[in-house]
Amino acid sequence: MLKEILAHNERFTQERKIRHIGHTPQKHTAIVTCMDCRLVTLFEEALGVQRGDVLMLRTAGATISTPERTSAHSDLIRSLAGGIYLLGVREIIVVGHTECGLANVNPTVLTATMQALGVDPHELIVQEKLGDMNGLLRWLGAFHDVHVNVQEVVDVIRQSPFLPRISTHGLVIDIQTARLTVVTQDK
Ligand SMILES: [Zn+2]
Repeated sequence: MLKEILAHNERFTQERKIRHIGHTPQKHTAIVTCMDCRLVTLFEEALGVQRGDVLMLRTAGATISTPERTSAHSDLIRSLAGGIYLLGVREIIVVGHTECGLANVNPTVLTATMQALGVDPHELIVQEKLGDMNGLLRWLGAFHDVHVNVQEVVDVIRQSPFLPRISTHGLVIDIQTARLTVVTQDK
């Protein structure tokens, strides 16, 4: 893949002149979504956001790992703080999606894959004090219901002591149709 990217980039930079714009998002908004490959480019198109409009933050499952929720000590909260305090963000939109890889993770498959790649999940659970398999799943950020997860992530953001109380919404995008539904909305 790297070779492919470098070759494309060579052609791209020769053909395209990139317009210079500032690093402050024009819409003063940060959008949090998942890393799912089916969202690449489609997501921006479906929401109608252009280069320079918003900060785009992607985490596996558009979620925050359960152990990091209580104190809101997560990299996502850190990124949102940077967006708000340094880049003028005043609105946050969390967008989960249907058929997410982090939904309904099968512990048996996870265990087998980790072992096949030379990581012993049981050793890891002990070493990192995760308790049990459920602890490992919580660390990974696995969830059952995308709507519930979006609501929980929005709640963590709304209540984070690191962030001011700004307008924060939660949505779910259908990965097949790209249709958005609102889970929770601030005024
Ligand atoms: Zn996902």
